[in-house]
Amino acid sequence: MSDSNYTAASDADKTHFIQCGVCQEWMDCRDLDEVCFHETHVAAPDVQYTGSKKVEDNE
Ligand SMILES: [Zn+2]
Repeated sequence: MSDSNYTAASDADKTHFIQCGVCQEWMDCRDLDEVCFHETHVAAPDVQYTGSKKVEDNE
């Protein structure tokens, strides 16, 4: 995320942010795409998450 996004975030959100030791960019630890990117700094294919789905109760 950009520095302006970081400064605009609430204090509650900022508790989830860490700064990358390599590129000094802030990332949100709740966003796995950001965390994985800063692990390698290689762009990965965009994975579409399908979210949760209710499991049918067959009893
Ligand atoms: Zn980084």
